Amino acid sequence: MHGKHEDAVPPPRELRAPARASTGANTGAFAVLFVISVAFLFASYCMARALIGGFGAGVGTIVMAIAATAAASIFLWWLAPFADFAEIFWLHLPADRRARRGECPHCAYPHGGRAMCNECGESTAPLPAWTLSPRPVRRMARILVPALIVGAAAGEAWMRLDETRFVREYEAARVPYARARAFPTEFARMWADESGGMHSEAWPAFERDRRWTRPAVPGTNQAPTANQPRERGW
Ligand SMILES: [Zn+2]
Repeated sequence: MHGKHEDAVPPPRELRAPARASTGANTGAFAVLFVISVAFLFASYCMARALIGGFGAGVGTIVMAIAATAAASIFLWWLAPFADFAEIFWLHLPADRRARRGECPHCAYPHGGRAMCNECGESTAPLPAWTLSPRPVRRMARILVPALIVGAAAGEAWMRLDETRFVREYEAARVPYARARAFPTEFARMWADESGGMHSEAWPAFERDRRWTRPAVPGTNQAPTANQPRERGW
């Protein structure tokens, strides 16, 4: 790879770009970070949406939930060094091990104390230690932007699906009806009043719900009457 552009004087090591792992190794590392980020941002979006409250979401709610999710992405930045995972594990660690054994850090050929490797033509000096450079931070930014879009879109779709299911359940019950939202926002609760108005609460009013009674025979398909609201998920 190197050595093809044979300069008379190689540039000083510290001026060279940081060592780069193969595209395949990097793609794997980035994919893992992307999946972790999407999962975290999906859960963050759902929680923000449930905390902002309200059944369904207009543009205002969606914008607020996306802003809250972007703020929550701060907690993913500690993963930035892992964007250099491939370099650390497939370049720096093997190079250090070879250097300790008196082998060329690039190709593992025994260099016998020579400054240049007879086998690959690289310098036999140990690779500079890995340090946190702007590169993994840039890589993390490039992972987080699409992860935020995918996580928020999946979160909104998931919340809408749960609300659609709730409306169908209410239409089957036709009484004041309440249940917890789906994972990961079970803390919040949706309820439908007598006139079919849909509500969602981040901080459920348990006093009101306790006044409601359960169906006479729990576990059967017997429809509850108008003053016997059905309750599920609690
Ligand atoms: Zn070599």
